[in-house]
Amino acid sequence: MFIKHDYIESILEKAKSASKEDIQRVLDKAKERKGLSHEDIAILLQIEDENQLMEMYKIAGDIKQSIYGKRVVLFAPLYVSDYCVNNCVYCGYKRCNKFNRRKLTQAEVAEEVRILEKMGHKRLALELGEDPVNAPIEYVLECLDTIYKTQNSNGEIRRVNVNIAATTVENYKKLKDANIGTYILFQETYHKPSYEAMHPNSLKSDYMYHLTAFDRAMESGIEDVGAGVLFGLADYKFEVLSLMIHNEHLEEKFNVGFHTISVPRLKKAEGMTLENFPNLVDDETFKKIVTIIRIAVPFTGIILSTRESANMRKELLKYGVSQVSAGSITGVGGYKEQEEGNNVDQFTVSDNRSPIEVLNELLDDGYIPSYCTACYRKGRTGERFMTLAKSGQIQNVCEPNAMTTLMEYALDYGDDKFIEKAEKTIIDNLKYIKREDIRELVKENIKKLKEGKRDLYI
Ligand code: SF4
Ligand code: SF4
Repeated sequence: MFIKHDYIESILEKAKSASKEDIQRVLDKAKERKGLSHEDIAILLQIEDENQLMEMYKIAGDIKQSIYGKRVVLFAPLYVSDYCVNNCVYCGYKRCNKFNRRKLTQAEVAEEVRILEKMGHKRLALELGEDPVNAPIEYVLECLDTIYKTQNSNGEIRRVNVNIAATTVENYKKLKDANIGTYILFQETYHKPSYEAMHPNSLKSDYMYHLTAFDRAMESGIEDVGAGVLFGLADYKFEVLSLMIHNEHLEEKFNVGFHTISVPRLKKAEGMTLENFPNLVDDETFKKIVTIIRIAVPFTGIILSTRESANMRKELLKYGVSQVSAGSITGVGGYKEQEEGNNVDQFTVSDNRSPIEVLNELLDDGYIPSYCTACYRKGRTGERFMTLAKSGQIQNVCEPNAMTTLMEYALDYGDDKFIEKAEKTIIDNLKYIKREDIRELVKENIKKLKEGKRDLYI
């Protein structure tokens, strides 16, 4: 097994005696971007000194700027079924919570998709509980088919990432054939005793089966996998180091590690209270976690959901987050029922702003909101994607695609004021595109968008 508890705990223990000089040595190494060892990451996790913290934030901010530039990718979750046979202590969908469970019919899925498309979304994360009877893999495949086929006059979903329970190679193959984007699965916690305490008597109880899900997904041919930890279940230092080790395991075995890492923090949900969780992560620690992940795996996207407040999201965009959800509803059929307020959510959302509000603020803060879904449609996935990312060549496509998808969004969903603001951002940023041919192409594409063409990307 690649997550060795004794090994991780001994490294963390040793790091406790790291001096200020030891920490400085790792910070200097991080600045040179030479790659960090497990011991180095453990030492960074010890930082408390205010000046060193600031220095670490600066290093992460510089890495983020040089690799991701100003773009921020947007997506929305779509919950299709809250049937669940599991009993995860922290989740509102756990089977001991009694409420009227439901799964969307395909007509309802299409309705939700149309609402999401009207908000401008192009990239979804499909979410559902685990229930082999009520929501088997065939149901997931049907939903995927419906989502890709449902189009508005000016909207379509171009990439669906899928978050379903750990499953077999055979089922992962089916997902791959259904053209999914990233397969997302949160380990929740890498700490086995905590994992077992949090997932009693259910399909999800088997730590090893869950931990090896990405191995099976990659064996099936899925190239992009998205990991995550639910911070607050166990010691965050153990989780961060384990995430890095899991990533390395996949790199060694399949030549490509995590495409993304999600960093949800435990939130209040139906049927649980936060008082029973001694490992909750406060805001300052959370910032530290995101920063260290950014430094440790510069080319892996970091995803933040609306579990976090607008202010926290704004702060973390500076240090590492590259993808955020917007306008999210975390209940089944929730986009339609938004006004009625009678659905059970998987967890509580902290950022309730609509996508256009989120985009306005991103623009005000100097970012380029992006609805780009180009890579997987161009076959830039898995190892090929990582090679491009690591060589820096991905920059030649990310920022231009951010600009064209922003313009498309503005023309289709913005008012005159928003269009003006978006266009100004694009014009201001065109000069930073290094290659003249690409700069010209973006200008040409903006012109074509204004003439009514859509879905332009490189
Ligand atoms: Fe079910 Fe997932 Fe919630 Fe666990 S976390 S109860 S598997 S929906
Ligand atoms: Fe993501 Fe690829 Fe688009 Fe860049 S070009 S934003 S990596 S999909």
